[in-house]
Amino acid sequence: METTLKISKIKDGTVIDHIPAGKSLKVLSILGISEAGESTVSVAMRVQSGQLGHKDVVKIENRTLQKKELDKLSLLAPNASISIIKNFEIVKKFNLSIPDAISGVVECQNQNCITKTREPVTSSFRIISRKPIVIKCDFCERTMNEPEIHQLF
Ligand SMILES: [Zn+2]
Repeated sequence: METTLKISKIKDGTVIDHIPAGKSLKVLSILGISEAGESTVSVAMRVQSGQLGHKDVVKIENRTLQKKELDKLSLLAPNASISIIKNFEIVKKFNLSIPDAISGVVECQNQNCITKTREPVTSSFRIISRKPIVIKCDFCERTMNEPEIHQLF
């Protein structure tokens, strides 16, 4: 209810709900939404959520998200939910989930890694922990923890 009151409904597009409070700007960055964009985007930061705390909500009109974008979002906001809206109705709703492996989503932080030195080698990581998130490069075995990953967004 609270959310509906604060942000108007959209006709077609995607709603990303239950983003950790304050992280919505990183969500916009992940989705490549900038001042030059064309989509209508609504952002609500620090919306009251239940008894416990606050959350951010992002609504993007006329846009569906690609798998790579969802994978990247899952590293930032693993508990977020995605609703696909068509003609003001939710036609699909699901929770983000961190996949077992990610490819071409984040860059390895090892400057000597083959994915950094020899283009075009697509980065590829295995997820070795989900809470907190830790990923490991398939090429150089460098691990990256949650703060390091979030810094990239
Ligand atoms: Zn690497």
